[in-house]
Amino acid sequence: MNASPRSVDLRIDAPWIVPVEPAGVLTGHALVVDEGRILAIVPAAEADAAYAPRSTVALATHALIPGLVNAHTHSAMALLRGIADDVPLKAWLEQHIWPREARFVSPEFVYDGTLLASAEMLRGGITCFNDMYFYPDAAARAYDDAGIRALVGMPVLDFPTPYAADADAYLALGLAARDAWKHAPRLAFALAPHAPYTVGDATWERIVMYGRQLDLPIGTHVAETAAEVAAQRAASGESPLARLDRLGATGPTFVAIHAVHVDAADVAALAAQGCHVVHCPASNLKLASGIAPVPALLAAGVNVALGTDGAASNNRLDVFEEMRLASLLAKVGSGDAAAVPAATALSMATINGARALGMDGLTGSLVPGEAADVVAVDFSGVATQPVFDPVSHLVFAAGRDCVTDVWVDGVRIVERRQLTSVDEAALLARTRAWQRKLAADPH
Ligand SMILES: [Zn+2]
Repeated sequence: MNASPRSVDLRIDAPWIVPVEPAGVLTGHALVVDEGRILAIVPAAEADAAYAPRSTVALATHALIPGLVNAHTHSAMALLRGIADDVPLKAWLEQHIWPREARFVSPEFVYDGTLLASAEMLRGGITCFNDMYFYPDAAARAYDDAGIRALVGMPVLDFPTPYAADADAYLALGLAARDAWKHAPRLAFALAPHAPYTVGDATWERIVMYGRQLDLPIGTHVAETAAEVAAQRAASGESPLARLDRLGATGPTFVAIHAVHVDAADVAALAAQGCHVVHCPASNLKLASGIAPVPALLAAGVNVALGTDGAASNNRLDVFEEMRLASLLAKVGSGDAAAVPAATALSMATINGARALGMDGLTGSLVPGEAADVVAVDFSGVATQPVFDPVSHLVFAAGRDCVTDVWVDGVRIVERRQLTSVDEAALLARTRAWQRKLAADPH
């Protein structure tokens, strides 16, 4: 006795499905999607009997994984990719980035840069990211047009930029953007004070108040360089994290970006308070900032996610690369080849990122009921054959060039390596126009 099959939107078949939660690899299964959500992940024969899909995608050589989560970036800085390499953080910010931002950043710059970054990320299997940049309202238009999911940071600094004159203005503009986009289906908002060294105590206290009143996560760069920590200790006798703890910023909705130079007391405090850390290995390496103590953070129970940071300090928005670096650096840094195995690195790039952004239960794993944020990774090429362990391949052998198809909320945003949501030729033409303007700058 068979009930008639249930009509559904989409069925995707692939030789391997890696849900991340639960751990492991499913073979011979189908992923069933309806109304933007994952309805079921079941053996193919069971799917045959139970579901009548309106659309089917049969992938013969692919692994299906959750959409990757880039837990920290400054997406519009994609337009500054490669403009200043080979300098440390302080000189990079003060001599190269901030002066150019002062002259060029506008809503148009942010829209075009954010669309460029979103296109790059989607093509590389990233379906969700945490952004921190000026003009979040213009950025929100780009996320919406690209069809990507984002946690939109409301930036706060204690010094003026063309975007805002002072902390009050930053907060007012950020909250206005949040009001304007509060019904957008794939967007959520967070407070994004730049760093302890660019935001004073009085502003931090206001940020903490807004975070509590509006239930917003707080994400900030912290303990990125040894010089930052030394300056804070000289000023107040505290570590940067201890200062934020004193000001009430830390807790389960606090996202510590970088956390490179944290000591044992900082690690214990991050763990005890349920804070999240975003590890950005490529950016930390390129700016010579150091290597975050990821094995110690994980051992203490801290949720550690992965971020690319901006394309101006990376210079790619590539979470496959961050996964591989996170694993390799943890091994060499700890002298333990077992540190951060592939499955851990994959969790950091998916579910841990979703947790840090307050989006677990929505994205970051392939679980019925969650959004159908799904990436197909093709293992058929010579660089990814043979396949003994698909999870190992995802971290150590494959790269973003293996991504062929991407769905966000069940919508196929990348189809056979082509973006369906963005006119790539028009976007590249606008990017070249920005390149000409930036290159002509006398800086
Ligand atoms: Zn950053």
